[in-house]
Formats: sequence, C-alpha cells, structure tokens
Amino acid sequence: MEMEMEMRAREDIEIGEDITPPIPPLSYALHHSFLHSHCYSCFSALPLPLPLNSNYNNTKNHHHYYYCSPACTTTRVVSTEELHILQSHHHHPFSSDIRAALRFLQSHPDDRIAGLLTNCRKLLLLQDDDEFAATICEGAKAIATATDTDTASASAALCLVLTNGVEVQDYDGRNLGIAVYPQNFSWINHSCSPNASYRFFLSPPPPCCPNSTKLRILPQHTVLTKDDEVCQDNGPKIVVRSIKRIKQGEQVTVTYTNLLQPKQMRQSELWSRYRFICCCERCSASPPTNVDHTLQEISSASLDASSLSSDQNVYRDYAIRRLTDYIDDAITQYLSFGDPELCCEKLENFLTQGLLYEQLEGREVKSQSTIKLHPLHYLCLNAYTTLASAYKVRASDLFGLYSELDEHLLGALDLSRTSAAYSLLLAGATHHLFRFESSLIATVANFWISAGDSLLTLSRSPVWSEFAKWDLPIANPPLLKCICSKCSLMDNCKAILFHREAQNADFEDISSEFLDCVAIITQKVWSFLIHGCCYLRAFKDPIDFSWLGTSKYSSLRDVQPHLCSTDEEHGYTLQERMHIFQLGVHCLLYGAYLASICYGRHSHLTSQVQNILDCEECLINDSHETD
Ligand SMILES: [Zn+2]
Ligand SMILES: [Zn+2]
Ligand SMILES: [Zn+2]
Repeated sequence: MEMEMEMRAREDIEIGEDITPPIPPLSYALHHSFLHSHCYSCFSALPLPLPLNSNYNNTKNHHHYYYCSPACTTTRVVSTEELHILQSHHHHPFSSDIRAALRFLQSHPDDRIAGLLTNCRKLLLLQDDDEFAATICEGAKAIATATDTDTASASAALCLVLTNGVEVQDYDGRNLGIAVYPQNFSWINHSCSPNASYRFFLSPPPPCCPNSTKLRILPQHTVLTKDDEVCQDNGPKIVVRSIKRIKQGEQVTVTYTNLLQPKQMRQSELWSRYRFICCCERCSASPPTNVDHTLQEISSASLDASSLSSDQNVYRDYAIRRLTDYIDDAITQYLSFGDPELCCEKLENFLTQGLLYEQLEGREVKSQSTIKLHPLHYLCLNAYTTLASAYKVRASDLFGLYSELDEHLLGALDLSRTSAAYSLLLAGATHHLFRFESSLIATVANFWISAGDSLLTLSRSPVWSEFAKWDLPIANPPLLKCICSKCSLMDNCKAILFHREAQNADFEDISSEFLDCVAIITQKVWSFLIHGCCYLRAFKDPIDFSWLGTSKYSSLRDVQPHLCSTDEEHGYTLQERMHIFQLGVHCLLYGAYLASICYGRHSHLTSQVQNILDCEECLINDSHETD
C-alpha cells in the first residue's frame, strides 16, 4: 500500500490567511525562453538594459544566463555539468526539468528522493504513451552522462521533477520556470475544489530571512524530515494561503489545473501531466456538480430526437470537437493573423446562430441541426474573454487612426463600450459559478478587476465629453465623489489598499452587499452598454442569471441579428457616464478585495487597482483646485 502523502491543518484557519512561511525550493530551473530576461537565481526580472559588463553576469558563460544582483551570483553557482546541459539540451522538451533534476541530484547526493513521490514507474512503464516515456529516457541519459551517475538515479530525479515540479509564475501569469519544493508543499494534494492557493516570491535573497508565519499544516501519519538543516535561501519561494475556512485536521488542497474547465478536461490534463485520476469531491459528484454541468451543457435546436438518444456521447464529443475547432479558428484570426474584426464576427455569429452542421461523420443522420452552447459553457466564457480583448484592440486602433473628432471616434467609443459589456458579462458569469464553487475566487477576482478597468476606461474617454449631450464646464467631473453611499466596499477596500487588516471573516456580508449594489447600477446601464450588440441583447442581466431559470437558454435561440441593427437612440449622456464610472469602481474594489484573500494585501492585483484609482484621486484634487 502506498504511503499516504497529505497535509492537514494544525489549527482552525480563517479564509485569506497565510498557512506556511515562504518555502525555498529544493531545486529549480528557469525556462529557456526567459534566460535573457530573468535572473537565473531568483527569477526576478533583470534590470534593463542587461548588465553586460557588470559583475552581476558571469562573463565566462557567454551570456547563457544572468543574475539580477551580487547576492544572487553567490547563492546560485552553476556547475560545469549544468552549463553543459544548458548549452546542449535547450531544445529538449523537458529542458528546464532536466536542469532542475540535475541540480536536485547535485544538491541531494545522499537523499535522492527527499521524501517525495517520483511516480517513476507510472511515467516510464506506460505502453500507450511511448513517446512521452522515450523523451524522459533521453533526458535521463543526458543527466547520467553529464554527471557520471547511473541512469536509474537520473531518471528517478527527472521523474521526481516532472511529478512534483510547479510552474513558477510571475505577476502577469507567465510560466517562468519549474521548481520543486520540499514536503511542506509537495505533499499538499490536488483538488478541483481546493481550499488553498499559493503564490511566489521572486526577489534576491535579503540579508536575513524573517519567517513571519509559522507552518500551520502538518502531515497526518509521517514525521517530516528536516528541511531546515540546509538553510538554502535562493530561488523563488512559495507561500500557501487559505481561500476557504479550514477546520483543524482537515486536509489542505491546492489545484494543479484550471478550475474553470469541465471535469473531462481537468481529468485529461491531470492525467497527461501527473498520471493520476482525480477523485476529489467535485469530480466524484454524481450527478455532476452544478458548475460542471453548466460548463459543458449544449443543446441542439432541431436535432432528430432519435439520433440524440441513439448515441449521445458520440454526438456530444463530435459536437464539442467541431465547436472547439471553430472557436480556436476564430481566436487564431485575432491572435495570429491580427484580424480582430473577423474574429469578433465569427465568434458572435456562432454565439447567436449556433453551429450548423449537416451530418455526423460516418453516420446516417442527414438532417440539418444546430448546436448551441449554454451561455455559461466554458467555450462561451473563452469567447467572451476573446471578444472583450478584440473589441478593446479594435477601439484603440480606431482611436489611433483618427485624431479629428468625427463619427469614427464615436465608432471607437462604441467598440470600447461593447468590450466593457463583454468584460462585465465574463465577470458576472464567472461570479455566478463562483457562488456554487468558491474555489474559483482567484479567477473571479481577475475578471472583476478587468471589468472594472474596462468600465473605468470607457467612462474616462475624452471623446465622451465631446459627444455627450450636456454642457458642464469641466471635462472630467469629480467622479469619485459620487461612488457609493450604500455599501461598505469603499471602507473595506481602503483597508486593503491602505494596509489596515481587512476583516475577511465578513466575506459573505461584503459579497452580498457588493452584489446588491452592483445589481442596481447594472440595471441602469446594461441596456446602454449592449446597444448595437445582437448577442448581448439576449442577456437580460449579466450578473444575476436567475432569468436563465429552468427554461434553459431557449430565449437565446431566438436572437436574430437582422432585428438588432435598428434601435432606439442611445446617446452618450452624463448620467450614463456617471453610472458606468460607479459600476467600474465597484468592480475594481471588489476584485481587489477578492485578490487580497487569495494573494494577500500586497499582490500585483491590489497594486494594479490602486494605480487605476490613484488617477481618480488626481481628478478629485484637480477639481478642488479649480473650484
Ligand atoms: Zn536574482
Ligand atoms: Zn477533481
Ligand atoms: Zn455600493
């Protein structure tokens, strides 16, 4: 029987609390594509321009890698074996894993497993995935040759890195490299409904390392070997934080995958990367959880009922493949061919019309059928993300093209209005799922902040004041004054942004207060925001989805694009502008609040919100001066 590797809470833990000190890695390696932009030791971004002739970089290495500071130069010395691998194996698919494995072997000559799971047999003995196993063997051989060790140890080390390695992300969510952490972190299991999250600290080692937080988790059965003996202080450190209340003795879990995916996608990703089948509560729920059901619900408008019942799964898989291809194709138009307009057209066409298909391959079904997705289907959520971004790009392209105030600029404003509407829909839709699955907190925090940013950008557009039907003496009214007197978001967020301790215990209260407030403002501006966008017009409300109800999404089927073109006038008025501003600030502050729960008060997200709002403080001060 396998040894139980898991971590449990030592004590009761509130939501939004650090539960480990910053844990340094056992081994780590920067991905090849970041060797020239990030520190080889601590993964922080290099000062620019690159310090070519300073003593920070190793001039003997012909600039294969760089350090950000003298401290990093001394804490991370590169062996000749590693340099050799760096030069000769940078094209290998596991290039950074190989370097991490090599480094692990060199720093742990006596304890080659360090209490971690290698999954070596699972990874190597799979008959159906020879290519994967062959790639591992090739990598292990390279390590063995470079270090003069036996292939068995080398492949054990590589498998250990592949099994336990975590992608170290920077503030923009880029995967900078791979790191393996000791048992304190590596024994924390995966769940698709986790109660903890983690974040990284990327900075050169400080003169002394203060450990503010004690370790608040421990394994159930086994005594941990001491990691502290080698007080290595280099490399990106990891901190675990609670995103739900955790009771003493409860297992602590994090996620290894994107939680906004339906079960099948999560499972196949976990299998191909880690070789396990997830049996968490969310995955084993039967019938599937509300969220998993919604994320993959499709309908077929006129499909022959007999063909649907004959083999639902075949039909389903086929439909999803077709849909995925179609959406990928539309996104490619935008990202690879730089045509956001065609991308918007394709995606909206699909969202309103569904995908018409004529027959199933190799089957007898000939009737024409239309596949439609639930508006909260994961592919729809992907489409909203893309549409928000593509409309934004189109708007700024137009703004850049025309300096004269004419209908083009008004057109640009229309585009950024649609972008903000999609952004708000994405946040609202994800928040709807978040109510059933609270571990989506990090995702929803991000989406609220993006929505707030879009709305605020829209309300700040100088074009607006030119076209607006009002004559106020100042171009930018002191908007912050009119934020909100109804909810306590402002107070709570000041607490976060200005470094007082926020009361995360009031999470439910703050959330429902926010939703109440935002529901009222949204009703005032939604019809204005979706003006001219056929698909969005089918949404009665982008945040409260109770209108979807049990009648499924039949109302969305009836949208006809040609009916949307003519419409009553929707002018850009001061009142709309005020409401959009108000809504934007609410979204930003609530997003910052959620982000502070996941990542603490000093995360990039909270400082992003602070930067956006700082501009408004300027507005206030300016207007005081002119008063
Ligand atoms: Zn560094
Ligand atoms: Zn699961
Ligand atoms: Zn409010």
